[in-house]
Amino acid sequence: MCGIVGYIGYREACPVVVNGLKRLEYRGYDSAGISLLNTDAGIYKCKGKVSDLEKVIEGNPVSGNMGMGHTRWATHGEPNDMNAHPHSSFKGHFIAVHNGIIENYGKLKKRLKEEGYDFKSETDTEVLVNLIEYIYLKWEVEAETAVRLALTKVEGAYGLVVMCTDENDKMIAARKSSPLVIGIGEREYFIASDATPLVEYTKNVVFLNDDDVAIVSRDEFTLKTIENDRLDPEIHELDLEVGDIDKNGYDHFMLKEIFEQSRSIHDTFRGRITPEMDGIRLGGLYHALPSLVKAKRIIIISCGTSWHAGLVGEYLLEDMARIPVEVEYASEFRYRNPVLYKDDIVIAISQSGETADTLAAIKLAKESGATVLGICNVVGSSISRETHGGVYTHAGPEIGVASTKAFTAQVTVLAMMSLLLGRERNVIEDTEYVSLIKELREIPGKIETILSLNDEFKRFAGLYKDALNFLYLGRGYCFPVALEGALKLKEISYIHAEGYPAAEMKHGPIALIDENMPVVVLSPKNGSYDKIVSNIQEIKARKGIVIAVVNEGDNVIKEMADHVLEIPKTRELFSALLTVVPLQLLSYHIAVMRDCNVDQPRNLAKAVTVE
Ligand code: GLU
Repeated sequence: MCGIVGYIGYREACPVVVNGLKRLEYRGYDSAGISLLNTDAGIYKCKGKVSDLEKVIEGNPVSGNMGMGHTRWATHGEPNDMNAHPHSSFKGHFIAVHNGIIENYGKLKKRLKEEGYDFKSETDTEVLVNLIEYIYLKWEVEAETAVRLALTKVEGAYGLVVMCTDENDKMIAARKSSPLVIGIGEREYFIASDATPLVEYTKNVVFLNDDDVAIVSRDEFTLKTIENDRLDPEIHELDLEVGDIDKNGYDHFMLKEIFEQSRSIHDTFRGRITPEMDGIRLGGLYHALPSLVKAKRIIIISCGTSWHAGLVGEYLLEDMARIPVEVEYASEFRYRNPVLYKDDIVIAISQSGETADTLAAIKLAKESGATVLGICNVVGSSISRETHGGVYTHAGPEIGVASTKAFTAQVTVLAMMSLLLGRERNVIEDTEYVSLIKELREIPGKIETILSLNDEFKRFAGLYKDALNFLYLGRGYCFPVALEGALKLKEISYIHAEGYPAAEMKHGPIALIDENMPVVVLSPKNGSYDKIVSNIQEIKARKGIVIAVVNEGDNVIKEMADHVLEIPKTRELFSALLTVVPLQLLSYHIAVMRDCNVDQPRNLAKAVTVE
């Protein structure tokens, strides 16, 4: 959460930083600010979006070749002008932007107050910048040393960029649990929370690790530990184009990403399904494969939409590979003293690869000796570096806060893993294996067919945009999709929605059904079709409104439901990949019709880097 951009070089820093903040705005958007280290070291900041910040800086002399900016996702102190970053220190020697939480900020603040420090904001960040200044003045050390020493005294998480007004030729960046990337140009350097602001300037980047401190000047970049040991930076080449992070003519990133799904699933297949379709190769699992094949148990850890993908993964792995699977919320798993064995395989799923709780759960699992694998989208992310192996989804950057193409890409990876393990464990026979791969390869084309019905989904959205509640029901592979459909609706349209296994309806939710309750029932023709038909009858008997997602040509449900959304047929194993698409579009159109900010829903942010 929160976006940080820093620049030092020969260009005017203001446009570089402001454009960078726009690219990162999906990470946090309740306030924004910028500071350039020019003659007056001015700080411009305000509550609101980067566009509000642009109005603040309009007409002000924000000029200089070195500066930094921030888009905030408030943790300590409400979003207002004062709490916005950057924060300057009490005596004006330091300016900082920060992502994360300083957990012992209360104790530190008390000590600093005793030393005569005053605070303008309610943030933990101001405590940190004052602590840096206090050490700098008291021990008369260089700025870089003061930053390192201060960081040894803080508990919590930070992605931090600091400028010192007395040393205006360098920026100091540090990381613990909150991502930072350094972009390396020709006599210029960039710092950012992720690579999206850098891509138009350079493809060479260094991902900071925990406890790294980078000292960046115009000509030089030095990497150290907070203990002052020199490190050799590992330079990565970005595989990202500017076009990947533009809306490309769509009204919203979310719509673009929904429409990208047939392409993104293709990209997830790329190089992994052999041209003859007789094999699946997942290079990132090469070393772990023998342990995976022998695994007695797999534990999937994730949060939010990735947790829903994990649930689909549970069904896939148990069906195809016959390995018992548990799916855990990372935040619960890490705090509940879980029983872990050395031969457990833990799979962490996260789009950003930076989800704080998932990262902490990975560390816990590694301590117990388990093999930990990752499924994430962002190449070079913390999870991809913390795990023993894994599979990138290669869905391309996902900017819309509501995850769509990342979900289908994660499920695709889980399907490929399940097929591979099913084959290696001799659960799936050859002909079935080839036929399942063939079917999986047909998913992108079938998604195209669903997307071509967009106008129809939009019409249904118009009918129910004013509903106060929605219920989503599904069985088997469609149960996690029901959860995901409900999550999509509530997060972007603020309509209350619940997802349930259809059979659980009778244990409570049925009490909610009346003539005002739209119930989305996922009812493709599969093993539990007859049961779902009965559930639809039960809803109709209580006057509920049934919107059923059915297979093309299903005349039985058409007769009973108020509306049907038709999708192509696929094997039950892969049904989540198709049934989710109409739900994404329904949520999208409802949110747009309700005038909601689809790409930046209230209170949310992409990449949840705080616990
Ligand atoms: N904890 C800091 C604050 O509340 C930083 C939050 C963020 O990551 O945006 O200001």
